[in-house]
Amino acid sequence: MAEIGPRLYCCYKCKNHVSLHDDIISKTFQGRDGRAFLFSHAMNISVGRREDRNLMTGLHTVADVNCGDCGELLGWKYERAYEPSQKYKEGKFILEKSKIVKDNW
Ligand SMILES: [Zn+2]
Repeated sequence: MAEIGPRLYCCYKCKNHVSLHDDIISKTFQGRDGRAFLFSHAMNISVGRREDRNLMTGLHTVADVNCGDCGELLGWKYERAYEPSQKYKEGKFILEKSKIVKDNW
């Protein structure tokens, strides 16, 4: 079959489209329990309350990201990074590899 349209990732539970393969910045992030991808954008999600978290790479303000359809916790959004070397993550999304699936590709 010919490839048409963008390659999408879905919520593993309800198949809601949440992100695009082309928006992956890095595949080497660590999620809560396993590997996670860093995306420049996410869609059809809801972003929770901001909170400060001390991560391996320093203090960050993050917000949980849930599926906009079924409400499953998928990852988090970096709202603010305090370390200059981590500023590139601001406004970006972490989605756990175990929580997203490819949509027919
Ligand atoms: Zn879902």
